[in-house]
Amino acid sequence: MEILDIVVVGGGPCGLACAIEASRQKLTHIVLEKGSLTESIRKYPKRMKFFSTAENIEIGGIPFSTSNVKATRDEALQYYRKVVAYYKVNFRLFTEVTGIAKQGDVFEVHTRGDERFFAKNVVIATGYFDFPRILGIPGENLPHVSHYYDEPFKYSFTKVVIVGGGNSAIEAALELYRHDVDVTIVHKFEDFTPTAKYWLTPDLRNRIREGKVKVLFHTEIKAIEPGKILIENNQTHEPRELPADFVFLLVGYLPDAKLLKESGIELTPDTLVPTYDSQTFETNVKGLYLAGTIVAGIHTEKIFIENGREHAKAIVADIASKHSVTAEK
Ligand SMILES: Cc1cc2nc3c(=O)[nH]c(=O)nc-3n(C[C@H](O)[C@H](O)[C@H](O)COP(=O)(O)OP(=O)(O)OC[C@H]3O[C@@H](n4cnc5c(N)ncnc54)[C@H](O)[C@@H]3O)c2cc1C
Repeated sequence: MEILDIVVVGGGPCGLACAIEASRQKLTHIVLEKGSLTESIRKYPKRMKFFSTAENIEIGGIPFSTSNVKATRDEALQYYRKVVAYYKVNFRLFTEVTGIAKQGDVFEVHTRGDERFFAKNVVIATGYFDFPRILGIPGENLPHVSHYYDEPFKYSFTKVVIVGGGNSAIEAALELYRHDVDVTIVHKFEDFTPTAKYWLTPDLRNRIREGKVKVLFHTEIKAIEPGKILIENNQTHEPRELPADFVFLLVGYLPDAKLLKESGIELTPDTLVPTYDSQTFETNVKGLYLAGTIVAGIHTEKIFIENGREHAKAIVADIASKHSVTAEK
């Protein structure tokens, strides 16, 4: 039974940054990733461009060179793949972690395939993109409904309803409109989210003014049926039907609280913010750390690659300092 220094759960940019830091500090490690490498980025809309400049999403100090200032999804996927290969990061893909249990000073990490990994420390870096906010309305699971926007061509010359008023909804609406899609945005608030990308909202507002994209504010979706949705104005309570060949429910994502709770991490009930030391990112369970967006609970907009990648150095420095104390003894 090999006892590693660190098991990292999640092969996104922040988990990978931890593994790179571990290998620099000569700590034995493995990254267990339930999907492909950087699975969340792979699931982004296919033509997505990052809002961060390329250097702000670099990891391991490897320059990210792009032809434009901001990288595309494809460029980022290639970049992270190359960085991981360069550092010879030890990882296992399509290996979902289902449980983390501490016995004495050693963590036993279980996977869905019934494998077990043992480590003195575990870093959970599972992000949030796997768990869309569920509206709990009839028809949410129909085949023409999705919580992830993928690409525009598939929807050309169809009617698409987008539910949501944040960046994902705005970007999808503009891209679809530019591919001959009849787009209607349904949003429960009076305006788009104030944190929407400042260069996108004027573009969308102009298209709305021209009548090329439709928007219904103060409106909630109540049910989805094949070919149509049922909506209601949340001020007048007037119900209405809208035609919809496809529906995107782009209302955000939530972290996986189950794995954290079952590992013994204390969470604030309403925000799912875990208990952790803000200097070292160690949780209330000794030797169990958090990295990346997962530290922000439901406030997923607070931590992104730009600032989440910085967690790696603090975490691994803390682990390395304990390691050297143990080695000296
Ligand atoms: C459309 C879009 C655009 C964005 N643009 C930017 C941007 O321009 N700049 C920026 O800084 N941020 C951006 N973000 C946010 C950014 O993607 C996240 O902040 C970032 O991915 C967080 O990194 P992470 O490593 O914490 O989590 P993730 O990248 O989500 O990685 C978590 C990984 O853990 C894996 N995982 C989950 N559960 C398990 C499990 N039980 N066992 C094993 N593996 C598991 C997942 O498959 C995933 O690969 C964007 C997000 C979206 C959706």
